[in-house]
Amino acid sequence: MHTTPDTLALIGNTPLVRLKGPSEATGCDIFGKCEFANPGASVKDRAALSIVEDAEERGLLSPGGTIVEGTAGNTGIGLALVANAKGYRTIIVMPDTQSKEKMDTLRALGAELVTVPAAPYSSPCHFVHTSRRIAEETPGAIWANQFDNIANRRAHITGTAEEIWAQMDGRIDGFTCAVGTGGTFAGVGLGLKAKDEGVCIALSDPHGAALYDYYAHGELRSEGSSVAEGIGQGRITANLEGAPVDTQFRIADQEALDWVDLLLREEGLCLGLSSGINVAGAVRLARELGPGKRIATILCDTGFRYLSTLYDPVWLTAKGLVRRTA
Ligand code: PMP
Repeated sequence: MHTTPDTLALIGNTPLVRLKGPSEATGCDIFGKCEFANPGASVKDRAALSIVEDAEERGLLSPGGTIVEGTAGNTGIGLALVANAKGYRTIIVMPDTQSKEKMDTLRALGAELVTVPAAPYSSPCHFVHTSRRIAEETPGAIWANQFDNIANRRAHITGTAEEIWAQMDGRIDGFTCAVGTGGTFAGVGLGLKAKDEGVCIALSDPHGAALYDYYAHGELRSEGSSVAEGIGQGRITANLEGAPVDTQFRIADQEALDWVDLLLREEGLCLGLSSGINVAGAVRLARELGPGKRIATILCDTGFRYLSTLYDPVWLTAKGLVRRTA
């Protein structure tokens, strides 16, 4: 039996599971990286640890210091658990549109939670700008700045990409995921391309995000909307700069939900909607590359975080989505 020295050592080295339904539907092998297996139950634990350790190495964070961040929730949960394990405070700013489960989890972890109304990035009230202001006004605080702090994507170049490469024995034809900050997408893309230029890197963009049009036509433009939390970007963040992008898909929420439902019903995996966008993208990529290919994607967080939204029939109907398999 192996033991693990501390909580922080539980971050990363997540399992990679073959997704039976998506693989059978395409004649490919589609694998999901189980990021819900991190201690904070999302992919963002990796970025949180990397950002905090980078700040420590730069001498920006001293014992008893405060970490401030604007987040859809998962980065906040990652930062709060890393902060607790290392003896820092956290102040987390979140748009009030995000799930109650994420807010309750943050409060349970002891983070100071500030909620703001959803506002466009151009507004000074946007959660990212609010968090930067709070950091500037709080003595001994750092602003994690996950969108433009490339310690975020570094965690995926040195961690996630290396793990996927090793877990797939260096036999991988394609990778896809969606973008929130772009840390996962750009980091895994760069890491895999460094191993093998031939790995096809595909963006899976939800409706309401501007990156599909940017990579397809060179113009940041969005159409429609999505209820997926944690993804949907309207600008080229520092984490996205220089990301390799071979192809791109725009995925509707209903298409993502259909895969979330199938994985729950037939494989016992309870996932959030961004994972559904990623699996739908992996299926599209498999169909583009043809049978026999090996494709990886990210299962970003646990569905237990969305029991009051995605898994609530009343909420789902109000959003115009249908559970076809119920
Ligand atoms: N899915 C969920 C549920 C998330 O919270 C996030 C992070 N915002 C992502 C996907 C996207 O990850 P990244 O920030 O690395 O682009």
